[in-house]
Amino acid sequence: MQCMKPCSDETYDTRAFLDKMLENLDSVTYENMDPNAIPKCLKCGGKMFMNVRGGRWFIEKPYEKQQSRFQNWIQTHLDTPLLLLDMGTGFDTPSSVRWPMEQITYHNSESFLLRFNRDYPDVPKEIVNLSKGIQMDINKSIGKIYQMNSLKQ
Ligand SMILES: [Zn+2]
Repeated sequence: MQCMKPCSDETYDTRAFLDKMLENLDSVTYENMDPNAIPKCLKCGGKMFMNVRGGRWFIEKPYEKQQSRFQNWIQTHLDTPLLLLDMGTGFDTPSSVRWPMEQITYHNSESFLLRFNRDYPDVPKEIVNLSKGIQMDINKSIGKIYQMNSLKQ
């Protein structure tokens, strides 16, 4: 969880907050019976919310190290043949997976992007020769690929 202001870069494990809420939940109506059980920022007393990309208040700090490692990996694999599997990424947070996959494909002519997406299978025109969007339920897509592969053997 995190502060909604946010007043700092701190994020908190949700367990303690959830335990307190669950202790004060009416078992029939699921109504919170104690206003003090509503999570409040430990530093400023402000509103708390899950640490999810939901607005400008989102705290990136917990993900910076992973992002840096991912960027380093991309830089060291620019000439490496890659099959990129993009499964179900939409436009809620396209900067996390969807656009980086497209960028890798654009900059690495040895790569191929396979995008499985029931609602948004499109690929940018700049990488249309290095990618394929499959508009189908992912489970069905994988099942068909498995069937095709089984038939070849
Ligand atoms: Zn705060």
